[in-house]
Amino acid sequence: MKLDRILPFARVLLEKAIREGDIAVDATTGNGFDTVFLAQLAGNTGHIYGFDIQQEALEATAARLNEQGLANCCTLIHSGHENIKNHIPESVHHRITAAIFNLGYLPGGDKQIVTRADTTISAIEQLLEIMAAEGLIILVIYHGHPEGAVEKDELLRYVSSLPQDRAHVLQYGFINQVNQPPFIIAIEKR
Ligand code: SAM
Repeated sequence: MKLDRILPFARVLLEKAIREGDIAVDATTGNGFDTVFLAQLAGNTGHIYGFDIQQEALEATAARLNEQGLANCCTLIHSGHENIKNHIPESVHHRITAAIFNLGYLPGGDKQIVTRADTTISAIEQLLEIMAAEGLIILVIYHGHPEGAVEKDELLRYVSSLPQDRAHVLQYGFINQVNQPPFIIAIEKR
C-alpha cells in the first residue's frame, strides 16, 4: 500500500516539525514509543516533556528511554496534560515545535483509564498559547471504545471551530474501513 497508514503518517508529520535542539511534548507517554521517537528527533541538544497520569506508563517510558540512552533529554511528569503550562518552564515555551497526543487507553493496561475531551482540549488550548509559530499538534484519535466515541465527537466540534487565522487543521484517515479505525487531526499554530 502506498498511502501512509495512520501511525506512520503521524511520524511523517513529527519529522517535519522537529529539528535537532527543539523542544517537544508527548502528552500521553503510555508505553513510551512516541517519547523515544521525539527524543531521537530532538537529539541531545533538544528536550522532551512527557506526561501521563499513570505511574505504570511513566515507568515503562523511563525504561524504554534508558534502553535507548535517551533518558537525559526527557523530563517525565506524573500529571495530566491539562496541567502542561504549570510544568513546562517559561524559558522554553516558544521553542516547542511539536506535541503528540495518542488518545485512548494504555495498551496492555487498565481500559477504564482513558483520555477525555475536556482535558485534551484544555491541553491543546495551552499548547496553542505557548508553542512556536508553525508548531504542530498531532492527535491520534481512537474511537472504538465508548468514551473514545464521545471524545472524538467533542474534539471534532472543537477543532472545526478553531479560527482559521489561529491554526490550520487537517484530518487524515481512511473512510472505508470496518471497526472505527483511528484517524489523525493535525493542528498547526499560525
Ligand atoms: N503514546 C503511547 C505509546 O507510544 O505507547 C500510547 C498512549 S496510550 C494510547 C494513552 C495514555 O494516555 C495512557 O497511558 C493514559 O494513562 C494516558 N492519559 C489518560 N488521560 C491523561 C491525561 N489527562 N494526561 C496525560 N495522560 C493521560
